[in-house]
Amino acid sequence: MKITSLFENKGKTVFSFEVFPPKKTSPIESVYGKLEEICALKPDFISVTYGAGGTGGHSRTCEIASKIKHGFGVESVAHLTCVNSSRADIDSTLEDFRENGIENILALRGDFVPGVEPKHDFRYASELCEYIAKKGGFDIAGACYPEGHVEAKDEVEDILNLKKKVDAGASHLISQLFFDNDSYYRFIERMRIAEIDVPVEAGIMPVTNKAQIERMVSLCGASLPSKFTKVMQRYENRPEALRDAGIAYAVEQIVDLIANGVDGIHLYTMNNPYVARRITEAVSNLL
Ligand code: FAD
Repeated sequence: MKITSLFENKGKTVFSFEVFPPKKTSPIESVYGKLEEICALKPDFISVTYGAGGTGGHSRTCEIASKIKHGFGVESVAHLTCVNSSRADIDSTLEDFRENGIENILALRGDFVPGVEPKHDFRYASELCEYIAKKGGFDIAGACYPEGHVEAKDEVEDILNLKKKVDAGASHLISQLFFDNDSYYRFIERMRIAEIDVPVEAGIMPVTNKAQIERMVSLCGASLPSKFTKVMQRYENRPEALRDAGIAYAVEQIVDLIANGVDGIHLYTMNNPYVARRITEAVSNLL
């Protein structure tokens, strides 16, 4: 199933998850138990990340996306980055996706890795979108950044670049995580002014431990509203309370987003079935 079709039902908020493959040093089967539990929650689809910097090859992403779809019966989306790939690398990855029945791709530029010379065949995600669209047969999604991408000069430039990505073939967008819904609503307004009118899913990351907060802020630069930091500070030395507070914060964000007519919610599950289940139970009647 092409996931863009999910957004045609305007009365229903799309609800999807993101998972990641295990490290190369662990057997791939090591995540299957958790994936089975996550799939049992029956989200509309699950996306599978691609190793940072294009490392680790695409095979684990492909294998897990295939297992989710054919083994656990949930539609899947394979992430694919391009900045460290040649055209031939991308061709062979697309062929593998096709052979494994994967119909949906989240087309990304990926990050530059210190010490790794980029391949120069694809400079931006929009070029990858255009390339995949020309090959045909795949539904293409793209990433977007409610608070702007870290490298963008300003929000206007970032939105104009996003428009290029949509014009190049991305028919649905998934957002970077954020903790302040107002910044998301302002972003949606800028998108509509720029006449970008594809469906957008809001990326929600339930923060359940202290290390995760620190890592996230340094990696993606999401701003932390004082409401959020106060909750996290209060419970930072009580792991179970912090986890419950993180789940409650994410649920509150989701309820507000649904009430404001969001197209979809994309939950960064961090491969944690317990957290995914608690959130799904809290919001499934609202979608
Ligand atoms: P682009 O859309 O190419 O944008 C990158 C930068 O270039 C932006 O600043 C943009 O404004 C600018 N730009 C774009 N087009 C042009 C143009 N034509 N001219 C000039 N400037 C331009 N990374 C992974 O390694 N693996 C993953 O699985 C993964 N999954 C992700 C999932 C989501 C939902 C998100 C939001 C991010 C994910 N990332 C992943 C991270 C992503 O690879 C990085 O954020 C990367 O820095 C940008 O990728 P992009 O596809 O958004 O790039």
